[in-house]
Amino acid sequence: MRVLLVEDDRMIGESIEEALRGENYAVDWVRDGHSAELAFSTQSYDLMLLDLGLPKKNGLDVLHHYRKQGGDIPVLVITARDAKASRIEGLDAGADDYLIKPFDIDELMARIRAVLRRHRGHIHSIITHAGVTMNLATHEVTLDGLIVHLSAREFSVLRALLDSGSNVVSKMQLEDKIYGWGDEVESNAIDVYIHHLRKKLGADFIKNVRGVGYKLTAEK
Ligand code: CA
Repeated sequence: MRVLLVEDDRMIGESIEEALRGENYAVDWVRDGHSAELAFSTQSYDLMLLDLGLPKKNGLDVLHHYRKQGGDIPVLVITARDAKASRIEGLDAGADDYLIKPFDIDELMARIRAVLRRHRGHIHSIITHAGVTMNLATHEVTLDGLIVHLSAREFSVLRALLDSGSNVVSKMQLEDKIYGWGDEVESNAIDVYIHHLRKKLGADFIKNVRGVGYKLTAEK
């Protein structure tokens, strides 16, 4: 899961970034409206967190522009307490939810899970595939009911594969999902995470599609 965070307030931005990383999201943080547009025109994201009061171009204009050009990822708007009109405008402009400053960071994380879930048509926070379950709220992963311990990156790779269902995911797509701009991308890292996941979840759980990428096997 890769999130575009658009927030010009340094302290708020830092605390959101830290919380997102703590929940295994890759994060790209930009601080003005122009940089936001540059980011989503060059990189694909799973979610945008958008402050409305921004330098250079305000959040509402950014959102209008994004939806107008067909952008369809969930957008969660972050706005000041007194800006009721802009909240309504934000929702009308295509925001999926909003949160008023100052907000509780745990509530923000729960709202993020909820909009991502709705976007994917899931009713609850547990994804299941062939005996493996992933709880997005608690980050617990189980195999046949037993807890499996995964590193943050292993969790992110598994989540990307689970989100893709039976579709093949390329190595580059996986890298896109788990690394933000500032993160160092180690070569072969994806192969290593896949190797660990197979050891923990079963050798046949993840199939290598030669020259294309990886997919989950349909049955155990
Ligand atoms: Ca602001």
